[in-house]
Amino acid sequence: MFQSSRVKTANSARLFENAKEVMPGGVTANIKFFSPHPLFMDGGEGAYLRDVDGNDYVDYMLSYGALMLGHGHPAIKETLYSQIENSGTWLFGTPHELEIQFANKMKQFFPGMDFLRYTNSGTEATLLALRLAESYTGKHKIAKFEGHYHGGYNKVLLSLDPDLAERGSSEEPNSVPSSKGINRSQVQETVVLPYNDNNAFEILKKHANEIGAVLIEPVQGGFIPAGSSFMSELRYLTEEYNIVLIFDEVKTGFRINLGGAQSYYGIQPDLTTLGKVIGGGFPLGVVGGKKEILMESSPIKEDSSEILKPRDVLFHSGTYNGHPLILAAGLKTIDILENELDNVLMKTDLLKSELELLFSEKGIPMQAIGIGSIFNVIISEERILNYRDYCEANFKMRKKIDYQLLYNGIYSKPLSRYSLSTRHGEKEIERTINAYEKVLTGL
Ligand code: PMP
Repeated sequence: MFQSSRVKTANSARLFENAKEVMPGGVTANIKFFSPHPLFMDGGEGAYLRDVDGNDYVDYMLSYGALMLGHGHPAIKETLYSQIENSGTWLFGTPHELEIQFANKMKQFFPGMDFLRYTNSGTEATLLALRLAESYTGKHKIAKFEGHYHGGYNKVLLSLDPDLAERGSSEEPNSVPSSKGINRSQVQETVVLPYNDNNAFEILKKHANEIGAVLIEPVQGGFIPAGSSFMSELRYLTEEYNIVLIFDEVKTGFRINLGGAQSYYGIQPDLTTLGKVIGGGFPLGVVGGKKEILMESSPIKEDSSEILKPRDVLFHSGTYNGHPLILAAGLKTIDILENELDNVLMKTDLLKSELELLFSEKGIPMQAIGIGSIFNVIISEERILNYRDYCEANFKMRKKIDYQLLYNGIYSKPLSRYSLSTRHGEKEIERTINAYEKVLTGL
């Protein structure tokens, strides 16, 4: 299918050959690869991306959801220029005031964030959250949910997309490596739970003495919401058994609404991880939550200036943590979203309903699932509650549609979810619906 567009993307194909000479698989993040070659971009503005062959696309990937103000927002450019102009440098390597301002802003939307620490990515944020939880509880196993992604390290690269033959029963899913290089002991340290399934609670109770943390995407993949009673029970049990509940809101923070999935559910986790949107398109992660847990990483004793021995403190450091330029861009992004988020949510709902209408006119069962400004196009009539349900959708047809959409100027990595930005307006939605109409008619 995509072969027919080879001529249209000849420069991307050529660059991919060059990239394969210098990087494994021609990419620097495996998620960026798709067959026969990914598209190389060289420009972007607002809701649009432009590839190296001069084709333009309405961008629904938005750097995996990070660019909630779209590409090249003038206010962010201005913020970056003036931050450099005013301070004369872009990195102090010392504490600075923006760290406090940004923390207070987060607290405004995430009231459970007594304290926070900055990291450089979502991966680093979940890693720090788990280390804090283990240090705080003294329990070294963790639990995560089948199909949930939390970043690129061995402890969480388990059961992301296990095969039918390996995944075990839903009463007790197996912990299945999703990467090479994960050894047996690492597999055993992570307990895998079924999502939106009460069996998860029995497993948790069984391993409660060993599990220090439960890590969850409160909306799986950004588009499969947890049931509210499931969430309440999870909160109740983790509290009961001294297990730190971590909401990984790297996707959902500022995309579901300003207070993330936790304000949607009215449930306060012990720790929250944020990433993507909060950096305004630059690398930033946050771990925030209960003061007593965050204090594990404090170099001084609470309410005193007594300096602790390094071995009595949970190590946390990083050359770029709290980068001033990035915090400035992030703060500006959040300021803009305070005024413009509702409009993004409205546009997302409009696109979802127009797509569902179009598919139903064509006689194809499709659900545009998600809450907030992320959704996914699932070709299935069944109710999708977790990874196992999701596996049953019609990916073959979806892939066919996605490749044709690329050819027709709609960018989402094949099979990926959709994210919208403040720059996606009615014009872009109309273009998207027209492209879908053309593609579905030609199926
Ligand atoms: N957690 C979740 C829920 C994510 O969606 C992601 C990124 N897709 C991560 C963690 C890792 O974030 P990063 O890519 O910034 O390391």
